[in-house]
Amino acid sequence: MPTITLGDVTITRVIEIDRSFYPTASMLPESTADAVQRHYGWIRPHFFDERTGDIGSRIQSYVVRTPRHTVVIDTGVGNDKPRDESPIWNMRQGAYLTDLEAAGVRPDDVDVVITTHMHVDHVGWNTRLVGGAWVPTFPRAKYLMAGEEWEFWNYERARNHEAATLIGDSVAPIVDAGRAVLVDTTHVIDEHLGFEPWPGHTPGHAAVRLRASGGDAVFSGDLMHRVVQVAEPQWNSRFCGDGPRARKSREEFLGRYADTGTLVCAAHFPQPGYIVTEGGQRRFAPAGA
Ligand SMILES: [Zn+2]
Repeated sequence: MPTITLGDVTITRVIEIDRSFYPTASMLPESTADAVQRHYGWIRPHFFDERTGDIGSRIQSYVVRTPRHTVVIDTGVGNDKPRDESPIWNMRQGAYLTDLEAAGVRPDDVDVVITTHMHVDHVGWNTRLVGGAWVPTFPRAKYLMAGEEWEFWNYERARNHEAATLIGDSVAPIVDAGRAVLVDTTHVIDEHLGFEPWPGHTPGHAAVRLRASGGDAVFSGDLMHRVVQVAEPQWNSRFCGDGPRARKSREEFLGRYADTGTLVCAAHFPQPGYIVTEGGQRRFAPAGA
């Protein structure tokens, strides 16, 4: 289980699905193959997937252990959920909870679950199916979610079948069980963790920043889906709800964190790393390399 230690805090990735359903050309519709391949020199080998011949991707959770809390940031796709949009998401029977336990975390250990945004691959393990009902997977946890994000998807579920299914099985049961804490996107959790608003991908999309005795990190959610967007931030993903706003957030985020030594943990990157500038060009550098 890959773990990074930042002094008094550890970050562990629990990988639910080790590749994307969407090739880069499909995930980033504004990209071109030539422009993507120009960056392969730094994308290889750390961020490249030789199995698919494409930039690597993951669906994963970040487990953050601070002196105060055990925190799970984003909860993947989940098991037993009807997901017509993708065969690798539909009615999954994955080993996520076993893998979480292998990382030293049982569901009862989790104090806080943080949702960067309410897309299908970020809220799935919020709940699990027990006796025909969706119950909170982490029974003691407070689930922190942006109120703006909840309001948008609660509105959207009346209009959109996919949203209705997803919100109905993975978010509404948390709210109904009284486990949701709706916060604004500047919410400070404690001396270690806080929300940062980066709207565009969704209306209430947020990152989570971490301050630890051994350095800072930021969990950037879906500000970027493929590492190539560090160098080509003008390319939105096919799932960015408000393209111009998503692009502006991405560009500002890269400006804020480039060359700062802040560890960037993106929801779908194959591994964490740093935004660095070389010869006027930004790229992503793997942690520990
Ligand atoms: Zn995502």
